Amino acid sequence: MNNQVKFLLQESDIPQTWYNIAADLHQAPAPVLHPGTHQPITPADLAPLFPEAIIAQEVSRERHIAIPEPVRDIYKQWRPSPLFRARRLERALDTPARIYYKYEGVSPAGSHKPNSAIAQAYYNKVEGVKLLVTETGAGQWGSSLAMACNFFGLACKIFMVRVSYNQKPYRRALMETFGATVSASPSNETAVGCAMLSKDPDSSGSLGMAISEAVEIAAQNPDAKYALGSVLNHVLLHQTVIGQEALKQLEMAGDTADVIVACTGGGSNFAGIAFPFIGQVLRGERTGLRVVAVEPAACPSITRGHYAYDYGDTAHLTPLTKMHTLGSTFVPPGFHAGGLRYHGMAPLVSQVVAEGLAEATTVAQLESFTAGVQFARAEGIVPAPEANHAVAGAIREALRCKEEGVSRSILVNISGHGHFDMQAYTDFMAGKLTNYEYPAEEIAMALAGLPKF
Ligand SMILES: *Cc1c(COP(=O)(O)O)cnc(C)c1O
Repeated sequence: MNNQVKFLLQESDIPQTWYNIAADLHQAPAPVLHPGTHQPITPADLAPLFPEAIIAQEVSRERHIAIPEPVRDIYKQWRPSPLFRARRLERALDTPARIYYKYEGVSPAGSHKPNSAIAQAYYNKVEGVKLLVTETGAGQWGSSLAMACNFFGLACKIFMVRVSYNQKPYRRALMETFGATVSASPSNETAVGCAMLSKDPDSSGSLGMAISEAVEIAAQNPDAKYALGSVLNHVLLHQTVIGQEALKQLEMAGDTADVIVACTGGGSNFAGIAFPFIGQVLRGERTGLRVVAVEPAACPSITRGHYAYDYGDTAHLTPLTKMHTLGSTFVPPGFHAGGLRYHGMAPLVSQVVAEGLAEATTVAQLESFTAGVQFARAEGIVPAPEANHAVAGAIREALRCKEEGVSRSILVNISGHGHFDMQAYTDFMAGKLTNYEYPAEEIAMALAGLPKF
């Protein structure tokens, strides 16, 4: 073994295709249902919201889908992203584990989200769309889509969950720098927003509410479409550049992954790193892979939710998908990993867990920040609060290796940097952060409201 720390690919190594796990899953994904009729949805139902190319990707079962050259060209601004061997963290933990991290914080927006934002903006531009409307939690997706729309000459309107709008003024400034318009959600600009505000004028907002507002605007404007930053099949597809690159980089390192760890909000960075590896398992090309999804204890959709049909938004404007869900009316507490505050989980991630191809675990807020600070002090990179959950999961795995006296290879996705989240770190170091209690009663209430079939 050499002492190499980072494994770098060439621009020509950026994947030519995205990997579609639906081609390899043994069971067909459950159909998506119309919110009104509860019948399987048709491409025509989705046409007001998404361009045709995206709808085709959403239902595709082809294994490889070509990445358009204009998208690959923009990927070159930061891809291939580096894979690091966390040698300094390994020493700090005194673990025999080999820890590798794929670092998506090198993108201009600071996270993995541009991998899909660029693709979505491209397909909308090609089909003549003028305005993209979206929601954002922590602001990572909003800044990624704002940048992508700017590159392709599209207007961009963003509903930002109110708690983040107030917590993260610099994320908002970044979106505005790229030319987007940003409103705090719930807002009084939409009928659904007004209804939510009349029920609760002090509402801190949620991703589910912001999605309802964005969908309402997009559906009413023939020149506008909607864009979602996670959960949907096409978003997960676009993120598979992460895992495909990591496969090559581990090969350069002369290693392979025994355990893959990633955090899950809607499931896209998890799918992005894990699906290319899980594909190898599904095709019988390898065995002995463990894949761990780490979710926040305060919003535990996989570990505490139901695997059932549910709406993607609070106002029930979106189709019904079969997924792990805490109920679409659940409003998660305002903890700092805003990107993980979603009631549902990507249907493909839910299916992969249900089929035993991956497992899920939870990490509480204080453990996540303790891990993030330890990672920063060892590796010099300050992870996003979301990514801290993955770091905590990886540290648990590394310490288990130490206990058992075995050297496993752990691959963790550092989905973004935390440079816009330093207030959260300040609060943590001042002892002001708490472990939000798992709101059992509220979740039970939200789950009781699940649509019945
Ligand atoms: C949005 C975000 C997440 C959560 O979203 P996923 O779709 O689950 O990946 C995680 N980390 C970062 C840095 C994010 O911006």
